Amino acid sequence: MSEEAQGERQQGDTVALVHLFHEIALKGGNRSFFLRTAFKNIEAALAGTGAWPVERRSMAALVPLADDAQWHLVRERLERVVGVEHFARALRVGPTMDEIKEAVAARLGGVAAGSFRISAQRSDKGFPLDSPQINRELGAFVQGLTGLPVKLKQADLNIRIHIFAGEALVSVESLPGPGGLPVGVGGHVAQLMSGGIDSPVAAHMMMKRGCRVLFIHFHSFPLVEGTSREKAEDLVRLLTSYQLSSRLLLAPFAEAQKQIILWVPPAYRVVVYRRFMMRIAEALAVRHGAGALVTGESLGQVSSQTLENLSTIEGARERLPIFRPLIGMDKEEVVRRAKVLGTYPISIMPDQDCCSLFVPKHPATRSRREEVEEMEARLDVGGIVEEALAGVQEVRFRWPEDGPSAGRAASATGR
Ligand code: ATP
Ligand code: MG
Repeated sequence: MSEEAQGERQQGDTVALVHLFHEIALKGGNRSFFLRTAFKNIEAALAGTGAWPVERRSMAALVPLADDAQWHLVRERLERVVGVEHFARALRVGPTMDEIKEAVAARLGGVAAGSFRISAQRSDKGFPLDSPQINRELGAFVQGLTGLPVKLKQADLNIRIHIFAGEALVSVESLPGPGGLPVGVGGHVAQLMSGGIDSPVAAHMMMKRGCRVLFIHFHSFPLVEGTSREKAEDLVRLLTSYQLSSRLLLAPFAEAQKQIILWVPPAYRVVVYRRFMMRIAEALAVRHGAGALVTGESLGQVSSQTLENLSTIEGARERLPIFRPLIGMDKEEVVRRAKVLGTYPISIMPDQDCCSLFVPKHPATRSRREEVEEMEARLDVGGIVEEALAGVQEVRFRWPEDGPSAGRAASATGR
């Protein structure tokens, strides 16, 4: 470190202290790849904020901050970086108890609280005091300074001290990130994205397992107005803040539906629509290098999602596995997640999904694959798929370049 930097260090510089999701530490031989990806994603999310460089510290990152205004922006961004467990604005000082005390006193200025605790974590075992000793000494110091009582459980103020080699960090807040594995380590999957409540939640769950998600939306324009497309775009724009860039493929489905209604009895149409979606989505997924299809299906949620119908639908795809992250969740749980994620208000806006076209109120709940295959034998399956593929349009999204509106729409970290 330069002498100048040392000089600045002595007064304590403000940094964002970012802790990574604990599971990353367990990844054995892949650990360095997981960490590299996490740090790279943090760096990309902070682009344009001026907060730079991202300094690596084992399972944490430190990013120098210029001022409070910058912190607001940095905070908004870090709340969206999958792989970030929690983060704080911290004062960085030299690793001595005197400097730490000075920083604690500075951090406490203006903070109102009825109780406090100290949580020390010593990553550098060369520091002369261990964590309990730091807790005790600083506890006495803060008590002397403020007269506040110590409360180990649910203290108003948790003063955290992290000791790394050559530096100590002092923070009094901890903000949650989304957690999860950094996007990019889990491969590439294709999400069948309706404008509904379920599919955005499923996509977000896959992102939290480290997947980069390609979005595919089927629309029946011009048979119906274009609102489902617009909703899909708004949902993808919001979800892009968790993976930095996205592609949305808009696949025309009206022609397929016109063919299907000619030959398939009403009770079976939803299942056959879904089988065609699987075929078209699989071709698109393969074309874009995705290794799995993802849906927002949940067992028993609607008639197309009985065990029999899920199995018939699944039978249409040939190569890729289908992941259904919501399969065992009830609707209430999915709605709760959608509200936290911020997708809920978009999802409940009225639209006409293509699957609701030309179908009866009570579709068949127990299809058999063989009987549906017989119905499809009258259709030019390959031709219908090819026609849809030829009409696919692509929309690309980037975050944060697409503007802070993508970030503001959501209410929290999407945990
Ligand atoms: P909700 O149940 O809240 O309406 P949903 O997204 O689950 O939303 P469903 O009708 O239950 O909609 O559809 C089940 C799954 O089928 C969806 O989660 C999605 O993966 C896929 N799907 C349905 N409609 C479309 C569509 N128009 N484009 C792409 N995928 C779709
Ligand atoms: Mg659903």
